[in-house]
Parts: sequence; C-alpha cells; structure tokens
Amino acid sequence: MKTFGCRCGNTVFFENTKCVACDHELGWCPACQNVTTLLPADGGRFHCGNDSCTSVLAKCHNYAVEHVCNRCCLVPDDSSKPAEFCDYCRFNDTIPDLSVPGNKEMWQRLEAAKRRLLYTLDLLKLPYGKSEDGVPLPLAFDFKADVVHKRKWWWAMGKEERVYTGHADGRITINLREADTVEREKSRVFFQEAHRTIIGHFRHEVAHLYWQMLVQGICEPEFKAAFGDHENPTYADAQQRYYEEGPKKDWQVNYVSAYATMHPWEDFAETFATYLDMVSVLDTALHMRVAESCDPTTADLPIMVERYVSLGIVLNEMNRAMGLIDLVPEILLPPIIAKMQFVHELVRAAAN
Ligand SMILES: [Zn+2]
Ligand SMILES: [Zn+2]
Ligand SMILES: [Zn+2]
Ligand SMILES: [Zn+2]
Repeated sequence: MKTFGCRCGNTVFFENTKCVACDHELGWCPACQNVTTLLPADGGRFHCGNDSCTSVLAKCHNYAVEHVCNRCCLVPDDSSKPAEFCDYCRFNDTIPDLSVPGNKEMWQRLEAAKRRLLYTLDLLKLPYGKSEDGVPLPLAFDFKADVVHKRKWWWAMGKEERVYTGHADGRITINLREADTVEREKSRVFFQEAHRTIIGHFRHEVAHLYWQMLVQGICEPEFKAAFGDHENPTYADAQQRYYEEGPKKDWQVNYVSAYATMHPWEDFAETFATYLDMVSVLDTALHMRVAESCDPTTADLPIMVERYVSLGIVLNEMNRAMGLIDLVPEILLPPIIAKMQFVHELVRAAAN
C-alpha cells in the first residue's frame, strides 16, 4: 500500500476520512486513484484536491450516510446522476442489521478489510466484476450475523441460524462475528492458528472464487499435479476426516497452515491467501522505500519469496520487540514455494 498526501502537505493513509493536520475531509478519487483532499463544491459535491485532476466527485452512499467507506464516485459531465455506491461498495449484496447495537462498528471493520482486498486485486489486475460487467463469475459480498431467536414462550426452543464464512459461486459470505476482536482471538487460539484476521478471511475466500474462475475446467490437470487430486477423496469426505482426525502430521513441510491439509481446494485457498499477504507486504515495503523489496506485480516468484523471507525476519523481530505475534509466521519451504509458483503463474496469466 502507498501513502497519500493532503493538499496541506500532511501524509495521509488509505483508511483516512479526515486530515488530522488541516481538518479537510479526504476520500478516494477514482479518476486519479488517490486518497485526496475533498474540496467542497456546489450541491454537496466535491472537487478532487489533486491539482492535476480536480474531478467533480460525490461521496459513496456508504461514506456520506453510513460512514463505513471513504470512496467517491465520479460525477458525470452531463446532468446524469453519479453512481450511488462506489466501485467497491457496489459488490455488497447483504449488509448487517444496523438496528443491532455494535453492528455498524463491526461492518466498518469488514469494509476496511474489503477495500484492502480489492486494492490488491486491482494492483495485480485480477479480473472481478458484476454480471453486468460480463465477468464469468460475478462477485458479491454478504455480511451477516448469526440469528438467535430468543424463546418467547416456555415451550418454544431457542432457535439459531448460523452463518458460515465461505464462498459459493462468486458470493463471499463473512460472519460479522469475525469483526468482533475478542471472538476472533478466541477462535484463533481454539483452532491453533498463527493468524486470524478479517483481511485473511477475505483473501482465503476470494481464492475459492479464483479457483472456480481460473482453474476449473481450464487447468485442472496442472492443478492436480501441484496440489493433489481434488476429486478423490471428495471434499465432504476430506472435511469429515479432517474434523475427526485433525491435520496431517508434520504439515509445516508441505503446507502453509494446518487447515490447508484438509483438501486441495483449501490448500489452494491458503496458499493463494499467503501469496496475497506477500504481495501486500512487498508492495508496502516498496512504497515505504524499504531496501530489499521488489515490485510484486513484475518480479519473478523466487525474488519475491527471497525478499519476503528476509523482510519477514526483520518484521517478526520488530513485532517480538513489541510483544506482538509474528507478522510472517509461515516457513516457506520448497514444496510450498512450488505451489506458490502455480498461484503466481495463474495470477500473471489472468492479468494479461
Ligand atoms: Zn491536510
Ligand atoms: Zn482525482
Ligand atoms: Zn463505498
Ligand atoms: Zn476455504
């Protein structure tokens, strides 16, 4: 991720909505692809504060009304209305019930992670869109909470509708509970995970979308050679075995996580998510002018891995210095790098 500049000269960040130095509102300008100073104009509109752009902008509905977004929509030159939702919020199909206290704050955290996800997909030029954009597998987000019906009468049982974080045919569902910091950390400890983050969930689930879009019926033999046979055992059988017997022994040699041992689809999703982690860290290091980074959109995989590993040593020690968990917990051994090479080639081919 880059940093951006307010007109006053202050450095501002991807998530910001206001400059702390000059109090100007900020927003993402889709024309110049920047977090920019929003200069008020007539009719509740704004001008992009970037002098080489000055586009007329309107805040996304989720920015202006809900305060969970910081992106703007371009106001067309003719008298037609700008889009109601920004280029990232247009993929939301279901948002949480905002009458429930606390849901707005948790939704805001999901949106912040979603914007980071889509920024990385844009950086890598990975295809995604809605059905009207003509993409083969339209993307949609459902952000939902578990529904617990309280018993009203003594004979009525308490009923629960559980929401499962997952992917189905382009639709990514995230359980709102994952935005509850305490609940998420409890799950991380229970499942013995090195990390459990909202952005990590998005990266994992979008990987399933790309498997369906870029691998299924296109390069399944090559996938099998890299990740194993996804048809035998079936996903259901593999899942049952995983929950009965736990992960494969000594999984660290061949897999980025214990969960990846469940089935080749989960191995692909975990490996793809790790690849997106790596791209995001390298891209940030590149823009922060940290020595030893590389451009993750053009570099070869061995260089990317080498730089990520050496950055990881530094970043892990930094985190340990502050009493935090390791930033780069994975040990990228050759069998894992071989699978990352498959992901790398898939991503680069999709970008062209
Ligand atoms: Zn400022
Ligand atoms: Zn602009
Ligand atoms: Zn938006
Ligand atoms: Zn999965």
